[in-house]
Amino acid sequence: MTDENLHDIIEEAKSLVQAAAHKRTGMVQVSPEVAALYESMDVSVAAAPREAVPSPDVVMPDVTLPDTLEQLAAQVALCTACGLCEGRTQTVFSDGKGSAGLAFVGEAPGENEDLQGVPFVGRAGELLTDIIVKGMKLKREDVYICNVLKCRPPGNRDPLPEERDSCEPFLIRQLELVKPKVICALGGHAAKTLLKTDESTGRLRGRWHFYHGIPLRVTYHPAYLLRSPGEKRKTWEDIQEVMKVLNGEFTPTP
Ligand code: URA
Ligand code: URA
Repeated sequence: MTDENLHDIIEEAKSLVQAAAHKRTGMVQVSPEVAALYESMDVSVAAAPREAVPSPDVVMPDVTLPDTLEQLAAQVALCTACGLCEGRTQTVFSDGKGSAGLAFVGEAPGENEDLQGVPFVGRAGELLTDIIVKGMKLKREDVYICNVLKCRPPGNRDPLPEERDSCEPFLIRQLELVKPKVICALGGHAAKTLLKTDESTGRLRGRWHFYHGIPLRVTYHPAYLLRSPGEKRKTWEDIQEVMKVLNGEFTPTP
């Protein structure tokens, strides 16, 4: 091997390492084989970035999430962290601007949402829109609407714990960036994810909770209300409490 070849190989390796480096720590993760190769090399000759190679069993998840909702949505669109990516038409990130200070959090996209890329556009979505427009006298685009999961579970089955766990960092960042004054959790899955509780919607509704300091109200999922219209009255009570906070008539304290 000529010196020139060696130089080219090292330069290429350097650029590969730079491209693969973790944005914050500047570290790269390598396989045990590659680590052993580096260990065996005379690094003074190869000028390998020895200190940049951590021990192979150190796993460094990339926890750096973007600072804008647009960038976060773009990252979500590329996510392959769980098996739901295989069946999705597209990811479903959010709808509305949230300028009214309210964020609704549902469970997961259904068929219509998966096809349109917008949350709550099917039958349950029509009921949610009625609650917002006819009940609250707000425009749908002025509230923020999202789900715990950004991909549709096959056949609309319940989210699996591992799906919820791998998707949750996106929801946390999303709500950090939206900064709602009030959150309304729609149904048991949203409540469970946001409040880390196994209590039922029926037991959680009717009082104030807090999510990272933000007042949170739990109410029935609109899909449940379609099956049990007798419960709509209770959801309307919950929504009226939410409106009092939005209007500054009441400030819940933890
Ligand atoms: N149900 C949900 O929880 N979310 C949607 O987006 C649609 C239906
Ligand atoms: N169970 C749920 O998960 N959600 C509801 O809204 C009602 C019952």
